[in-house]
Amino acid sequence: MIRNTNSAAKTWLFWIFIVFLGVMLWKLVSSNGTGSANGISQAHTGGWVLILLNAAPLILLVGFCLFLMSRMRKGFTRIQNPGSPLLRTGIGYDLHRLEYGRKLIVGGIELPFDKGPVGHSDGDVLAHAICDALLGAAGLGDIGTHFPDTDPKWEGANSLRFLEHTRKLLDENHFTIQYVDAVVITEKPKLGPHFPKMREALAHALGVSTEHVHLKAKTNEGVDAVGHGEAIAAHVVATLSQR
Ligand code: MG
Repeated sequence: MIRNTNSAAKTWLFWIFIVFLGVMLWKLVSSNGTGSANGISQAHTGGWVLILLNAAPLILLVGFCLFLMSRMRKGFTRIQNPGSPLLRTGIGYDLHRLEYGRKLIVGGIELPFDKGPVGHSDGDVLAHAICDALLGAAGLGDIGTHFPDTDPKWEGANSLRFLEHTRKLLDENHFTIQYVDAVVITEKPKLGPHFPKMREALAHALGVSTEHVHLKAKTNEGVDAVGHGEAIAAHVVATLSQR
């Protein structure tokens, strides 16, 4: 789609250039034939002055066309190049064991349930996976780099603070959050009814509108630790743009 748009623009520019070139050449020939152009007499100014007067717009147009084509080529290359700083994508994953008697916090929201995640912070598996996806997309390490579980400062911490700090890091590095898409995997409880509040909390912490955060829920069909209700997991893909 982008390639087609660029090709069409280049084709139009090419034909505009050809038509303009033809008009200017015709004007030059006419001027030499009649001995005047633009109201200036050839006898007073000489042929070379007439040529300069007529060629000036043409030179400007050629320069402008070359500039536009160069800009389009650069834009096209940036989109095609996998290492381009224009758009960056990151993936995040997290899993926490669930134990009885702990608060279950997912996406910054406490859910009514008899089990909760074991973790140094509040164990918010969704917030942690989002952090990793964002930091990965920006090439800024991972959640353990910035919020090590050996630091007593983060003991029992609200994981939305991790997201707020990550947002600041992204801003300092000229990144803008374009989209966050997540899936949370747990057998119980049902997460769907809580998604609107989770999206609000996450979007607020990230400084974006809720349309930029999308959540999905899955079970593990009774398979493995997640399927047995012993753990909760999350996968996240985040897209950033660089200013
Ligand atoms: Mg975690």
